[in-house]
Amino acid sequence: MSKQVTAAGAALAAIVDANKKLTEEEIERLVGAAKEARQRAHCPYSKFAVGAALLTEDGNIVQGANVENASYGLTICGERSAICAAVVQGHRHFSAIAVVTDVGDDFGTPCGACRQVLAEFSMDMEVYLAQMSGKYIKTTMKKLLPAAFTPDKLNI
Ligand SMILES: [Zn+2]
Repeated sequence: MSKQVTAAGAALAAIVDANKKLTEEEIERLVGAAKEARQRAHCPYSKFAVGAALLTEDGNIVQGANVENASYGLTICGERSAICAAVVQGHRHFSAIAVVTDVGDDFGTPCGACRQVLAEFSMDMEVYLAQMSGKYIKTTMKKLLPAAFTPDKLNI
């Protein structure tokens, strides 16, 4: 057990990036928006609520939360629901995302599908992974999805 915790801690330590572009006030606001969105998650099956908040380059915040479905495979994560909401509102350029989960003293990380969807829009996006207490770690898309398949690879 303690060996697993150590391995998980090491994995998290490997993605932490201390070089923040956002101020502590901006981070607090973004994490707060993600926490608020989490309250509106539709997760009757997993009971695992996830809140996300995207910061657009022009300073808007767009929220997302996971939306589950009785046909489980149709579930959409909080990060992707935030992206979908933002795109529909006309946003394409993001400087940061905050994700709030309740995994105790640990930090929830975006799933592989969400990493790919976030990478579609920015590999420079800062990623703040927060606990319910507001405590967070900061990482980047480059650390979460190295050698990503991004739109420029299509050469179109
Ligand atoms: Zn996901």
